[in-house]
Amino acid sequence: MLNALGNVVTALTNGEFSFESLAAQLITIAVVFFVTAIWGRFFCGYLCSFGSLQELFFWISKKFPHKRITVPANIDRVLQYLKYVVVAFIAVALWIMAIPMDASLSPWGIFGMLTSGNLSVMSAAIFTGGFVLLLVFFIGSVFIERFFCRYFCPLGALFTLVSGKRFYRIQRDEPACTHCGLCERTCELIFLSRMEEERPAQMEVFCLSELLTSTIQSFDGVAKMQNKQISSNIQPNLFLCGDKKSIQKLLTILLDNALKYMPSQGVVTCELATQKNQLKLLVSNPSETLNKEQISRLFDRFYRTDDSRNSQTGGYGLGLSIAQTIVTAHKGKITAYTTDESSLTISLTLPQARL
Ligand code: SF4
Repeated sequence: MLNALGNVVTALTNGEFSFESLAAQLITIAVVFFVTAIWGRFFCGYLCSFGSLQELFFWISKKFPHKRITVPANIDRVLQYLKYVVVAFIAVALWIMAIPMDASLSPWGIFGMLTSGNLSVMSAAIFTGGFVLLLVFFIGSVFIERFFCRYFCPLGALFTLVSGKRFYRIQRDEPACTHCGLCERTCELIFLSRMEEERPAQMEVFCLSELLTSTIQSFDGVAKMQNKQISSNIQPNLFLCGDKKSIQKLLTILLDNALKYMPSQGVVTCELATQKNQLKLLVSNPSETLNKEQISRLFDRFYRTDDSRNSQTGGYGLGLSIAQTIVTAHKGKITAYTTDESSLTISLTLPQARL
């Protein structure tokens, strides 16, 4: 894809553009960007081998004890702009100004050589600058999930720009809405990457107390069917400035998880109050005994404390990771803890809106 773009931009700047000689590249670019503009970053989600390898390294690394790096949210947000710098560098320096750069410095080129299946080509790829860069990216993905995608990938940057403006979305027709939930559904990974890379879309001031109350009411029937209860202590008229749909999703995740992962006859407790200009929400539920290691990993993507239990409850272990992303995007904090080893509390704080 990047090569195709490079060929087109270079031909345009050199005055050598021709539809016939660039037909393959133009069709590739048009198809990928058209589909991205309609359905979002499908290439990253389903086709990219670079992305899949990073996922694989991160997944394998979770099987071994090692120190995970947590980049502070404000630094992470700034670092995510690096990929736009990479795009600008490639477009201006390499394509437009044609500044010569040794091909062996390209991690993509080296990746292509390493996966060529030709032993002499593969051995030539080692001991190059591009190989060192490739190693850095893959080692980084052991400590930070999708390290390269997150901070450096120029294609990812372009896809974000295109999919951010995508014109096809299922719109809810309020009067005819049957609350089927289709318009809310999106690939959870795409939702995550969108939340991580963009500010919450529609910031508005709304009453969190009311939203929490109505969300709890919507879960009451499900809780009763499972012989469970939800008890709440909600301070009225607490307002938040945020993306209401994301916060609704956050509350849904917390209640859904609490009900899923507790024994029947159990009671979920929800408390919402103010604390030093912050809104503090606690959601607690009885749970199996969780050790410190398990609790510290609850926000990891795809982490499951017990595979056998999760095969019955469903889900893909993304819920709390999404919750954390939503809270971070709203400049809040979320933690998990246990006070008696037989219950789990998710505690989060969000800035209170000034009215
Ligand atoms: S961000 Fe880049 S490396 Fe990551 S999945 Fe997308 S295209 Fe591949």
